[in-house]
Amino acid sequence: MKFDILTVFPEYFDVLKQSLVGKAIEGGVFDVRVTNIRDFTLDKHKKTDDAPYGGGAGMLMTPEPIARAIEAVDKNHEAWRVYMSPRGARLNQQRVESLANEQRILILCGDYEGVDQRVLDLYFDEELSIGDYVLTGGELPALVTINAVARYIDGVLGSNASTEEESFANGLLEYPQYTRPEVFKGVSVPRVLLDGNHKDIEAWRLEKSLEITMKNRPDLLAEADVCEFLPKKKKKRKK
Ligand code: SAM
Repeated sequence: MKFDILTVFPEYFDVLKQSLVGKAIEGGVFDVRVTNIRDFTLDKHKKTDDAPYGGGAGMLMTPEPIARAIEAVDKNHEAWRVYMSPRGARLNQQRVESLANEQRILILCGDYEGVDQRVLDLYFDEELSIGDYVLTGGELPALVTINAVARYIDGVLGSNASTEEESFANGLLEYPQYTRPEVFKGVSVPRVLLDGNHKDIEAWRLEKSLEITMKNRPDLLAEADVCEFLPKKKKKRKK
């Protein structure tokens, strides 16, 4: 898997050297190439923005340097091309998982007030938002997307970490988790987790997941397939 990032602030991506993602990149598990759009300007001031036609606040990114950068890094449109944008479809765990099936992803980080529409129409496959709020640029959204997708790439998470038992994996939020010590500031770990009865632990975790989802994200429950959470009946043996 390879990510190409187009940005006018490449330094943001230094953070990719950290933690599990950094290790995976260093170990060649996946690759991130950051391209500075300014390197594709032709004027001596390396200008990448201009005022919007029709007036309005702020500046827009001009199309030519972006187009030249794309032609340089993905001439034959082999990458799935994503523009990070608050008006895009909202990124969720399902979309993250499906993005992890791509061989190549190119991400354009917008800045200032956004990007000339023609470059989006001519070169991009999808607009993605990381949430209903506006940030100053697309760099943090691109980092969020890379990090979330990377967790689905083989070899990024440690062998005992799993993407299957986490929030969103079954449509619910995760149950509370505890580790040592057994008693912390007078508060004990719930008894059921200490007794070693896996059926009871599973039932308790499901109950807590439902409680937390109901409290924090009732919208997820409305979309969830409730039958999935009912206890599975054992098939009767034929006599
Ligand atoms: N004028 C734009 C609008 O109203 O939709 C907002 C532009 S924002 C100040 C600058 C850039 O930040 C955008 O072009 C986009 O790349 C990025 N951005 C901001 N918020 C984002 C979000 N929630 N998800 C993804 N990208 C975002």
